[in-house]
Amino acid sequence: MSLIRILDENTINQIAAGEVVERPRAVVKELIENSIDAKATAITVEIKEGGLSFIRITDNGTGIAKDDIPLAFMRHATSKIRTAEDLFDIKSLGFRGEALSSIAAVSQVELITKEPSSLNGYRYIIEGGEEKSLEEIGCPDGTTIIVRNLFFNTPARRKFLKSAKTEAGYINDLMEKLIMSHPGISFRFIVNNKLILQSSGNNNIKDVLYQIYGRDISKELLYVKHFAGDVKVSGFIGKPTISRGNRNFMNYFINGRYIKNYIITKAIEDAYKPYMMQHKYPFTSLYYEIDPSLLDVNVHPQKLELKLKNSDDVYEITCKIIKETLAGKELIPHISLTE
Ligand code: ADP
Ligand code: MG
Repeated sequence: MSLIRILDENTINQIAAGEVVERPRAVVKELIENSIDAKATAITVEIKEGGLSFIRITDNGTGIAKDDIPLAFMRHATSKIRTAEDLFDIKSLGFRGEALSSIAAVSQVELITKEPSSLNGYRYIIEGGEEKSLEEIGCPDGTTIIVRNLFFNTPARRKFLKSAKTEAGYINDLMEKLIMSHPGISFRFIVNNKLILQSSGNNNIKDVLYQIYGRDISKELLYVKHFAGDVKVSGFIGKPTISRGNRNFMNYFINGRYIKNYIITKAIEDAYKPYMMQHKYPFTSLYYEIDPSLLDVNVHPQKLELKLKNSDDVYEITCKIIKETLAGKELIPHISLTE
């Protein structure tokens, strides 16, 4: 008797959802990345109950053509790559074509979208992977996606989530990184109808860091820059006095993507070593521009990690700019011996 079955599309999407959207934060990340890929210059993110009952992302990007709407929600459907070779020339944040199909498989999604060239827009409803409706409506240019009742049909997954407050905190951290990684985009982050974070989108990194970290941190930052050769990097590093007991302050971005990379983390920590106490970590906000052919971004389902082909160069340059910048600065606060 034959026991093996090929799973149906919806089951496959629910399994993929476990990898791609394991919690509300991942939904927000995927949707914002889509807005960024759609060239939005203003993105509003609203959440309620830590994103569990309600997530709404509104952008002013390219919108989606009517015929592409149902396609966008199919697994492996993407406008961003055509062949595996394209993987080594990735300029977009997305490329796997998995996010919308995964999200729609485990929630109730409402999409409202309009291309600027089109006279009207469309509203599309898909719940638990099942299409409900596609209708013409009047709406502004760009795309709004509402995700309601995440994991409503996969209660086992819901059980793994933390409290609404903790989940909202995770989304807040993500928003900070996304705002930092895209200083040219004006973001608004609204939690339970209250505006929590916003950025002007004036493309000034220093302003963005001020908006997120406030005055006390921003005045302790030093500018770094290295623009020669294959690895371009610029940004701000903190004086050792603003170190932290965890790595939350250590951020870096490659081609606009917030990532974690062992080599860069090590380079930063090695360069700061002479100035840091044990178990203290520095502030960095470094922006790398590296030719996409030297990167492999396809090593992690959520694209949080990335492989560098020229990791020796990246290590050297990172160490060098930090060491040179810290050397010669008066880094230890002046302590006067006489009151
Ligand atoms: P990917 O981003 O990997 O291509 P997604 O499932 O996230 O896959 O999105 C599928 C497709 O839907 C995208 O390739 C894009 O063409 C379209 N799309 C999704 N979100 C937006 C948006 N906010 N604006 C315009 N197009 C979008
Ligand atoms: Mg995407």
